[in-house]
Amino acid sequence: MADELPEIRLGNLQVRPPESRPWPLGRPGISAERRGDAREDDRPLFVAAGALQAASDWSCADTSREVGGLLLGFHGVDEGREFAELTAFLPAGAAQGGPAHVVFTHDAFAALEKARDALDPSLAVVGWHHTHPGYGVFLSDADRFLHTRFFPFPWQAALVVDPVRRELGFFREGPGGLRTTGFFILRVAGA
Ligand SMILES: [Zn+2]
Repeated sequence: MADELPEIRLGNLQVRPPESRPWPLGRPGISAERRGDAREDDRPLFVAAGALQAASDWSCADTSREVGGLLLGFHGVDEGREFAELTAFLPAGAAQGGPAHVVFTHDAFAALEKARDALDPSLAVVGWHHTHPGYGVFLSDADRFLHTRFFPFPWQAALVVDPVRRELGFFREGPGGLRTTGFFILRVAGA
């Protein structure tokens, strides 16, 4: 990591400059499955199958309220091409529930930062997750406010899961505003 580059603090979560990493599609033993309008040349979002499964499991564990979590991984760059890679999911405090803006309080972010550091302090905050049990995959006005305030970079994503309808979607900031984005699911061969 080039230590002359500044670190930006968002609440209690540090966001680092892009880190030099190999392009995920070229890695040996990795297969990628395209979901939605995922473009390879447009700062793509790569999602480890295990991390997505963890987010899905956490979403389905309690469908009586909204639950949330943090998306961890890397903001990578390979020969000038940027990408986001989601490698781990961190559930937000189990005691909390209710709308996303209640789940993600200052204290919740502080707790998540601690948990991230315990897991692996080198992981970047790739985005956030919350559920909409039974009412569909979209971003409410409060969700949009929270995303813009705490996850303002174009490589950061919001994952919304409806565990009742069994639907999910990622949202990111782009030329058309904050809207749904395609992604690639990464699997290790044989896994
Ligand atoms: Zn929401």
